[in-house]
Amino acid sequence: MLKPGLLVTVSVHSLTEKGDGIATLEGRPLYIEGALPDEQVEVQLNLVKPNFCQGTLVRVLRPSAARREDFCRYTACGGCQLRVMSDQAQLELKRQLLVDVLQARGLGCPVANTLGMNEPFHYRNKAQYAVKPGSEIGFYAKHSHQLVEVDECRVQAPATTEVVQRVRAWMRRCTVSAYNEITHSGSVRHIMVRDGIHSGELMVVLVVAEAPSNEALVQLVGEFESVVGLVSLMLNINAAIGNRVLGPESRLLWGKELIVDSLDGLEFAISPLSFYQVNPRQTEVLYREAMRLANLQGHETVFDLYCGIGTISLFMARHARQVIGIELVPEAIVDARANAELNGITNIEFHQGAAEQLVPRLYAEGVTADVVVVDPPRKGCDTALLATLAEMQPDRLVYVSCNPKTLARDLAWLCEHGFTLEQATPVDMFPHTMHVETVALLTRV
Ligand code: SAH
Repeated sequence: MLKPGLLVTVSVHSLTEKGDGIATLEGRPLYIEGALPDEQVEVQLNLVKPNFCQGTLVRVLRPSAARREDFCRYTACGGCQLRVMSDQAQLELKRQLLVDVLQARGLGCPVANTLGMNEPFHYRNKAQYAVKPGSEIGFYAKHSHQLVEVDECRVQAPATTEVVQRVRAWMRRCTVSAYNEITHSGSVRHIMVRDGIHSGELMVVLVVAEAPSNEALVQLVGEFESVVGLVSLMLNINAAIGNRVLGPESRLLWGKELIVDSLDGLEFAISPLSFYQVNPRQTEVLYREAMRLANLQGHETVFDLYCGIGTISLFMARHARQVIGIELVPEAIVDARANAELNGITNIEFHQGAAEQLVPRLYAEGVTADVVVVDPPRKGCDTALLATLAEMQPDRLVYVSCNPKTLARDLAWLCEHGFTLEQATPVDMFPHTMHVETVALLTRV
C-alpha cells in the first residue's frame, strides 16, 4: 500500500507547469521536484492522496541526456525551476510546450526554434529581496514565506550582490531593525534593485515600514555613494499589512528619481513603480521579432494595445506613419508620453483605458489600423476586443504573449473569424524558469 515514507522507483514522463517531474504511480500522478522527463528516479513519498502523490527525489538512477549540474547553491529558493536542465534542452522544451498547446486547439503553423540567450545568466534588471529579522536577506522558498538567504543570485544583474551586502552591513552597523510580518514591528521590509543593464544605471529602493533615524539614513547614503553606477537611492514607505512590496510614498535620499535604460537606441526613463520588461537583452530580441513580423513599410497606422510605457510603440513608430498606443494603467501612460518626448518621436499618441473598450470606440469613430500589436497580461485578450479586430480586418496582427494557453485560445478564436495563423516564435525571456514568451503573426484571409 502507498504511504508517506515509502521509497519507490518510477519513470518520469513529463513536467508540470511549475517544472516538477511527473511520473505515474498506481494510476495517479506522482509529482517530483527536480526530476526531468525520461529519467528513472528513486523517490520518497511525502503525500499520498486518492488522485495524486508527491515525493522527494532521493536518487537519479538513469539521468536524462538533458540533465546538468545545478548552477546554484540555494536549493530551497523557488526562483528558477529548470536549473538542472541544459540550456539547449530548456529552449527545446519551451518550443514543444508551445507546439503542444497550439495543437490542442487544432492550430498548425510553423513554430520557430526558441530564441534564447548565449549567456543566460545575470539577465534580470529588477530584483526584489525580502528582509527578515536577523538581517536575513533573500528570496522566498517555493509556495511559502520562508526566507532563503541569498547573497549572490546568478540570474540577477551582478550589482545586486554588492547592494545586498551593503544593506546588511549598514543594518548591523546602525542597528536598523528588519520588519517582522507577524508582530508588524520593525523597519526594513524589502530591497528593490533596478539595474538598466544596457545603460548600467542603478537604482536602489529601500522599502521600510517606518523610516530609520536621520542619522542612520545619512550613514546609508555614505555606504552607497561609492557603488559604481548608482544613480538613484530611494526610501519607500510601506506600512501596510500584506504582500505588496512598494508603498505609495517614496523619498529621494540621493541622486535622481529615475534611471534611464536603452533598447535598440531608444531611451526609456524608469521610476520605482514603472513596469519595464525584466530581461532587456531578450526584450530587444522579442521586439525585433515583433517588428520583423509586423513588416512595416512606413505608410501604416499601427495600434499597440496593452502598450505599458510605450516600448513597442516607439519601436514601431520609427517605421510607421502613425502609432496609437493603448494602456489601462494611468501612470504607465504618463511614462509612455514622457518616453516619446525623450526620444523626440511625434507620430504617436497614447490613450489610457481598457483596450476592449477603447478600440471599439475608436473603430466606431472611423479610426482603423493596418497593423495591430497586442501584448496582453496572462489572461489574454477580451472577446470584445478580438471581435472589433475581426471587423476592422487589419492586414497583420502581431500577438505577443506571456501565456501560451490564453494565446492558443485567442489565436483559435481569431482563426475562426477571418485570420490565418502564419507562424509563431517562442522567445526565452526567463531562462531557467517555465515561462514561455511567444510572438505570433496572423494575417487577414
Ligand atoms: N507591451 C508592454 C507591456 C506589456 S504587459 C511591454 O512590452 O513592456 C501588459 C500591459 O497590459 C500592462 O502594462 C497592463 O497594465 C496592461 N493592461 C492590462 N489589462 C489591460 C486592458 N484591459 N487594456 C489595456 N491594457 C491593459
